[in-house]
Amino acid sequence: MRGISTDIAVVGGGVIGLAIALRLRADGREVVVIEPNEPGSGASYGNAGTVANYAVIPVGTPSVLRNFLSLLLDSSSPLAVRTSALPTLFPWLARFAYESLPHRYRQNASRIAELVSDAASAWTEFASEIGASSFLSAKGCLYLYETRKAFQAAGADIELRRNHGVSQQLLSAGDVAKLEPRLTGFEGGLFFPEAINLSDPGEVMRLLASGVKRAGAEFVQASVKSIVRERSGLHIAASPYDVRARTVVIAAGAHSRQLAASLGDEVQLDTERGYHIEYDMTALPVERPVCPTAHGFYFCPMRGRLRVAGLVELGGLTAPANSQLTEALARNARRVFPELGAPSRSWLGFRPSMPNSVPVIRPSKAGRDVILAFGHGHIGLTLAPRTARLVSAMLAT
Ligand SMILES: Cc1cc2nc3c(=O)[nH]c(=O)nc-3n(C[C@H](O)[C@H](O)[C@H](O)COP(=O)(O)OP(=O)(O)OC[C@H]3O[C@@H](n4cnc5c(N)ncnc54)[C@H](O)[C@@H]3O)c2cc1C
Repeated sequence: MRGISTDIAVVGGGVIGLAIALRLRADGREVVVIEPNEPGSGASYGNAGTVANYAVIPVGTPSVLRNFLSLLLDSSSPLAVRTSALPTLFPWLARFAYESLPHRYRQNASRIAELVSDAASAWTEFASEIGASSFLSAKGCLYLYETRKAFQAAGADIELRRNHGVSQQLLSAGDVAKLEPRLTGFEGGLFFPEAINLSDPGEVMRLLASGVKRAGAEFVQASVKSIVRERSGLHIAASPYDVRARTVVIAAGAHSRQLAASLGDEVQLDTERGYHIEYDMTALPVERPVCPTAHGFYFCPMRGRLRVAGLVELGGLTAPANSQLTEALARNARRVFPELGAPSRSWLGFRPSMPNSVPVIRPSKAGRDVILAFGHGHIGLTLAPRTARLVSAMLAT
């Protein structure tokens, strides 16, 4: 075993762990990042790239709760559950149902709204710090509604966003065509003019990891097996390393639950599995992230390719990718752009998801020497700079 000792160990090198490590180095703290894989190669690699400062609506809403069964039974809906995972999922689903009740949904939206409010400016500053400004695009994001009924059904969410000061514009079919001339056949849309997006989250993760190294953090390539609180500090077993730290930040994304539980924090974290397919192309059909809301994915303009990213599959961390879901993504993508051929590649990733869609960013109940920073669900990319600032403030006091 190789012994390492440090002030702060960050467990997990996704966008959350890396952003925290960068911030803590800026605070002058000694930092070791423990990550078994290429940093930034988990959920942080394959997402839709939106800095979604408008995404205040939690996944669980009264409407999702009302329609949950029909969504599950409809093979073209964005939601799927692996039946073999149902017994394990049951407590999470029960909590999700509770969190979807009207009073909880509104409270959860308020908490999320507070977190995402400054995401665009925070990301602009963060991208400049890591040399990634050229990967930011500021053309807003667009939701599309196929039918008048779907548009009307979105009314409650639109109002809740308005109450939280989200900048949004209702668009007619003609307005949609002015913004994105290749899009036809939609009843209307909703435009979020202040949203920004990343044109290549994977490249941005590489720049972020290099920035963290340049800032002086050490990287340890290993998987953390256990964290034990001892008199002299925290002992982290990450074979072949034996790391001792005064403080540990658990930022292992969807894999954080057991690590937190071993230190006494029972957290209802599970995963919403998400997928993307990509089409290599130079002339992209959209200029900004566009979400046909009935299908639950985004068309994402990326450098040299179109990424189609989204879906929610409840089914745990170990089952292989479900090819029926990537086929459904391709089929639904062709409904909008019939000229799309076969995808060039596909990807499965694990969103770290809480039943209320609110991330866990707080000290452990057992002591302030452990900080929990996970559970960012659909908005982890968006919230990375904010999470880093919150953790830095917790460790400064
Ligand atoms: C299809 C899809 C689309 C999305 N679109 C968006 C979007 O447009 N905007 C947005 O804001 N968010 C989006 N998200 C969500 C976002 O990608 C995640 O919330 C975010 O990446 C979570 O970051 P993380 O660092 O917590 O997790 P991860 O990126 O998964 O990183 C966790 C890291 O911890 C490591 N790890 C795991 N176990 C251990 C261990 N025992 N020891 C050490 N390290 C460990 C893993 O190897 C991994 O690198 C999307 C997600 C998906 C799947």
